[in-house]
Amino acid sequence: MSSRREFLQALAALGLAPGAPHRVAAAPRFARDPFRLGVASGYPSSGGAVLWTRLITDFERYDGGLDPAPVPVRWEVAADEAMRDIVSSGVESATPEWAHSVHAEVKGLAPGRWYWYRFAAGDAVSPTGRLLIAPRREAPVGRLRFAFASCQQYEQGYYGAWRHVVRDDPELVVFLGDYIYESSWGRRHVRKQNPGEPYTLEEYRMRYACYKSDPDLQAAHAACAWLATWDDHEVDNDYADDRGGDGMTGARFLARRAAAYRAYYEHMPLPARMRPDGPHMRIHTQFGWGALARFYLLDDRQYRAHQVCPRYSGGSNVIDLRECPALADPGRSLLGTVQEAWLDRAFGASRTGWNIIAQQTLMARFGVGSGSARRYWTDGWDGYPMARNRLLNSIHSKKLQNPVVIGGDVHHHAVADLKLDFDDPASPVVASEFCGTSITSQSRSQKQLDAARADNPHVKLADGRYRGYVRMDIEPGKLKADLRAMDTVAERDAACSTLAGFVVEDGHPGPRRS
Ligand code: FE
Ligand code: CA
Repeated sequence: MSSRREFLQALAALGLAPGAPHRVAAAPRFARDPFRLGVASGYPSSGGAVLWTRLITDFERYDGGLDPAPVPVRWEVAADEAMRDIVSSGVESATPEWAHSVHAEVKGLAPGRWYWYRFAAGDAVSPTGRLLIAPRREAPVGRLRFAFASCQQYEQGYYGAWRHVVRDDPELVVFLGDYIYESSWGRRHVRKQNPGEPYTLEEYRMRYACYKSDPDLQAAHAACAWLATWDDHEVDNDYADDRGGDGMTGARFLARRAAAYRAYYEHMPLPARMRPDGPHMRIHTQFGWGALARFYLLDDRQYRAHQVCPRYSGGSNVIDLRECPALADPGRSLLGTVQEAWLDRAFGASRTGWNIIAQQTLMARFGVGSGSARRYWTDGWDGYPMARNRLLNSIHSKKLQNPVVIGGDVHHHAVADLKLDFDDPASPVVASEFCGTSITSQSRSQKQLDAARADNPHVKLADGRYRGYVRMDIEPGKLKADLRAMDTVAERDAACSTLAGFVVEDGHPGPRRS
């Protein structure tokens, strides 16, 4: 099947083109291109993957400009970029209940090879995306390149960093949260997000449509498959379980959370098993890349203990142990007891060479000061120190091979040794940490970061001057991390360079400068 015209003829044969009768709905006619949010793929495991798109013609309308009826959407997967050698195809119904999104789960593809895919609805054909299917479980793999990123406040910059991710030609992208921002904040805005703070499903949908309209973000989704988890701004700043950072609690907050989670699912290439049920959505999971690497994608928001000693309503604080002894309460969990136990079991069962713990925020202690006067920012792992101890002890006692923690949230690059006791210079390093800077979101001042680093010698680098991402190359013998830094996010096509490179050698936890 070589051309767009032939593709449409094939649609007509299936009864999915204009003029042909079919069971699902009247043949759709679109006032404008309905594939304006692009295409995406995700979770490429077991010879399959999730293919995603959403039909929308009008970003200014709650209904996306579509009639409230299901629309049949055909998908096809090819072994070549020109889409001649079709190896799999099918039809999904895009329904208004799910914002006319499509999550097609393709199966039967060959492990370890690239495929191309696209969608068609009515007389419209989507752009083509590509993805690499994961290698077979425990198959030997020589290398994996992936990029990880987080925090893309739309108003604070253009998504030029995604252009550079695409140029790096990664096999996977791992996104670690703050895909959208519910609020408008920061300085030197280069563009406007759609107005208002979202609370309802329709409002969250419109925020996703705004962010996903960006062509550089769309190109990054089309370039390879993504793994994704969320952080707070996909719902509300600093939220914890059923309590918003703004003080909203109980059923009202859970209704907001349900709307936000549903809109998240609708706009991301996630498998059907992650589909939300009201305010509940199981997003934490593990994901294998042959014998080389295993990813543990964590959810540090849905199940966490409420913010300790909040400064205002439900939000975070900066506080020391004398003011807030509850910080040291071992009953407080960041992941929740069920996810903690699941992760501990997963560590015990791991047989891969590299184990990537993909979570939201900085794990290394980073409080300023010393002793009982050390001041901690409570929204991160520093606000849940006993839970951090449990996680690091689990890594150590399970003898997890080459554990590497990746994160985001703090809007600066950070590289650290993770230790069982950050106060004891003789305490062993049990894992390596790389926390990536933001795609666009603004950082604290470098002066503040330098002060915190002086009090935390296990943190080898903390640099908030640049926006960007982290590029990782894993081989059996070593992992290489390049901290990527944009010249500016005030222009779409700015340059990007490597601020610093680090390596972790097989069997030797702790990043070293390369
Ligand atoms: Fe953020
Ligand atoms: Ca965050």
